[in-house]
Parts: sequence; structure tokens; C-alpha cells
Amino acid sequence: MDSKTIRKRFIAFFEEKNHQFVPSSPLVVKNDPTLMFINAGMNQFKDFFLGNKEPQYARAVNSQKCLRVSGKHNDLEEVGKDTYHHTMFEMLGNWSFGDYFKKEAIEWAWELLTEVYELPKERLYVSVFGGDAKEELELDQEAYDIWKGIISEDRIIYGSKKDNFWEMGDTGPCGPCSEIHIDLRPQSEVDKVPGADLVNKDHPLVVEIWNLVFMQFNRLASGELENLPAKHVDTGMGFERLAMAIQGKESNYDTDVFTPIIEYIAKKAGVKYGHQESTDIAIRVIVDHIRAISFAIADGQLPSNNKAGYVIRRILRRAVRYGYTFLHFQEPFLYELLPIVGEQFKDIFPEVNEQKGFIAKVIREEEVSFLRTLENGLKKLDQIKAELKGESRIIDGKTVFELYDTFGFPVDLTSLIARENGLSVDEEGFKEEMEIQKQRSKKAAEVEKGDWVVLREDEDVEFVGYESLESKTNIVKYREI
Ligand code: ATP
Ligand code: MG
Ligand code: MG
Ligand code: MG
Repeated sequence: MDSKTIRKRFIAFFEEKNHQFVPSSPLVVKNDPTLMFINAGMNQFKDFFLGNKEPQYARAVNSQKCLRVSGKHNDLEEVGKDTYHHTMFEMLGNWSFGDYFKKEAIEWAWELLTEVYELPKERLYVSVFGGDAKEELELDQEAYDIWKGIISEDRIIYGSKKDNFWEMGDTGPCGPCSEIHIDLRPQSEVDKVPGADLVNKDHPLVVEIWNLVFMQFNRLASGELENLPAKHVDTGMGFERLAMAIQGKESNYDTDVFTPIIEYIAKKAGVKYGHQESTDIAIRVIVDHIRAISFAIADGQLPSNNKAGYVIRRILRRAVRYGYTFLHFQEPFLYELLPIVGEQFKDIFPEVNEQKGFIAKVIREEEVSFLRTLENGLKKLDQIKAELKGESRIIDGKTVFELYDTFGFPVDLTSLIARENGLSVDEEGFKEEMEIQKQRSKKAAEVEKGDWVVLREDEDVEFVGYESLESKTNIVKYREI
């Protein structure tokens, strides 16, 4: 089953069960001080759960673009090294706003996975919240009993508070969750160690695919839990992981979600994907990062020097450096991927395809600018490495700052290269240098204009597009909502 069909069937399955399809919200968040980028399907429904807004539908289904590169969920360091964490990914979800609860959510999830997608039942495991004595939280017996009617008890795992209890924040809606995991190891391995032992243990082939969250409590400022007047269901399934399971692959990158981009990059670099670890990682990082960058720009976040814009610039520079060092791309290359990314998503998220010319232009300019200093920065790092031989293995804050300031190396990139060479960086020292620099340029910073139209805090606005697709302009159109 190809990935487009997988997505379609998910949506159709829940539409048949009276769920309203709700389009993905933009990846970029402009009016929430607690969040820079959407990191879960529930973000756009937050106000329903908090009781600030009434939904017009009691059930919803969607496929949400998510980005996990900052804050509570930061998977950036896993990307490329493992084969199932991405920066940008799609989260498929079904929702009940005060309507159905655990029974339907669990039974439908099982029906969809085993009957529609025909995943092998003997490879599936589920987890339920096992309780937490310290926090006086009880185990989720209700979910356990529902699962017991569906699968044998040796496939039901008790999960910890960390994995199986969801909270929106220190206060507010929360509740236990139940996750579905799949064991994709070869049979010979399965015979040796049961999959149940590997759930939530970061085994690359025993992976979490679906999280069913049952919001039933409200946490008060005192820490006490009270029952919510209306209970909700919030589920999230990683689309790329689901595709891996259904297509019988051992890596998200071997699914048709990624292969067209991988093939392009591998051909351009003159290497074969799957033959050498260093080039494989570089290819995975690039195909992952180009999606994140493209969608961020399409949804209104240009790369820049601060906040969310700098997150995107950092991701972009990381990709450029992986290409430069491991695939020998000395000229801009990321921008060439835009037609493939646009084409792939045009059914579900047409925004990249519609703006591909503009996005490519922005990315190319970023590449040109970083490539100007990258080689010298890398030389500088080689020199540091040679100097550090035998002595301290830590690159001091001043040097890290110089790499940042003169060569445009974000600290996470320096850190990454340092790690590859058995070194580390003095992040505290770097922060101090940054602080000194900030003080120095405080006056200038006061008058400096960012990439964005500065919004008053009380302005509620929605990004509707760039003013001009012809030039890299910083003028952005907003609509008041
Ligand atoms: P993991 O434990 O694998 O990091 P998670 O528990 O952090 O996942 P959830 O917050 O429960 O993930 O998100 C719901 C689903 O989204 C997960 O079950 C998984 O399928 C998918 N998912 C989460 N993070 C990523 C990611 N970085 N890349 C791809 N899919 C992801
Ligand atoms: Mg995670
Ligand atoms: Mg998890
Ligand atoms: Mg989870």
C-alpha cells in the first residue's frame, strides 16, 4: 500500500465513523508564547480541551504537520542516527471532544491497524498506564480491561508516568494514555527475546506507532486532580512509522515517503544509499531537514537570526554541512529538492508546491551565504582539533563563539562536529560570550529590525502568504482574525 493510500484510508476510516476532517494547521505558531512550532495534532484543539472554545463537531480526524526541534519535544539529535525520529513528520489523529471515550478509541484503533492495514496481530503490543504511587495516580484498569478483551495479557505492558501519562502543562487537562507498538524484527530475533521486553526501550525495530490519550482529569494549581466534566480522546500516530510497518520496511526512510528524495540525493552525490554509514546518515539528515525547512518557510517562517527563524537556519546549516562533508556538495543543492518535496505533498499539503519557486530561492540564498564561510570554519575546527591533541578535549567558549560569529556555525553544529571528532564544547562558556556580545550591541539591537513585521502582543493574526514571491522579501502578509 503506498503512503498516499495509507493516509487516505486513515481519514476515510474515521470519516465513516462520523469524524469531521479538519485540515492541518500551519507548522508555524504566531500567537502562542508557549510554542514556536506545532509539535502534536492536539495543538490546534487546545482551546477545546481548556474549555475556552466550543468545537463545532464532537469528533474530528486530521493529519497534522509537526516539528519537534525545540522545547519539550526535541528530536533533532536523533534524526539521521535512528530511522524513526524526524524533525518534521505527520501525525494522524482522531479526536473525541466530550463524545466517545476509551472503548471506541481502542477498538477502532485495533480495527484500523489489523483489518484495514492488515498489520500482523502477533507483532503488536500495547501499553497502559501502570500507576504511580508517588504521585498517587492509579493504574488505568479501564483501558487494561478493554485491551484484555482484544489481545492476550502478555502483550499488555504497564507504562510509566513518563511514557503513559499525558499532561498539557503544570495545570490543566491530563490523563493516562495507551500506546500501540510494533515489533519489526526478523523472526529469529523474536524467538530469542519477546517483543514485550523491548517496548519503550529505544530498540530501532520495536517502535511506538500510535498514542491514544484519554483526557479525564484536570490538574489544579494545588496539584490535585479532579475529574473533567467532559472526557476527551486525543490520538496521534506517526504517519511515516505507520508506512514503515505497513510496507514491511525496517526504516521510515525505506518507505515511499522518502525514497524519491533519497534517490535524487544519492544519484547527485554518486553514492548508493544503504552502503556506508556516514553517507547514509548524511542522506537521511538531508531528506529529513529539507522537509522541515520547506514547510516552515511555506507556513511563514523564514530563516533568520533569532528565535523561530534561527531554529530553521540552524536546521538548514546542519543539512548543508552534512552534504558538504560527507557527500562533497560544494555548491548549493538543497534548493534543487523543492520540486520533489512539492510534488510529493501536493494532495495533502499543497502549500510547498504552490510556493516552490520562492522557497527554493530563499533556501538557495541561505546555502550560498553559509557555503561562503563553511570551508574556513571547518578548517578552523581542524586546527583546533590538532591543537587539542592529548590535552583537554573541550573546545572553549571563546572559540565556539568565534565559530558562531565569524563562520556562522550554530553551537549545535559545532557540538555535533566536535562529537564526531571525540571532542566536546564548553556550552556555558559560549553562553557567557554571547551575553558579553549582547551587552556590547545592546544599543544597536534596540533599533535593529528583525525579519518580521513586529506584532503587538494583543494582535491576533494569521499568516496568509508572502507579499512577493519574486524576491526574498521580508514583508509578510497577515490577516487579522
Ligand atoms: P517516541 O517515544 O518514539 O519519541 P513519543 O512518545 O515522543 O514518541 P508522542 O508524543 O506520543 O510520541 O506522539 C505520537 C506519535 O507520533 C508517536 O506514537 C509516533 O508514532 C509519532 N512520533 C513522535 N515523535 C516523532 C518523530 N520525531 N518523528 C516521527 N514520528 C514521531
Ligand atoms: Mg519522543
Ligand atoms: Mg514514547
Ligand atoms: Mg508516545
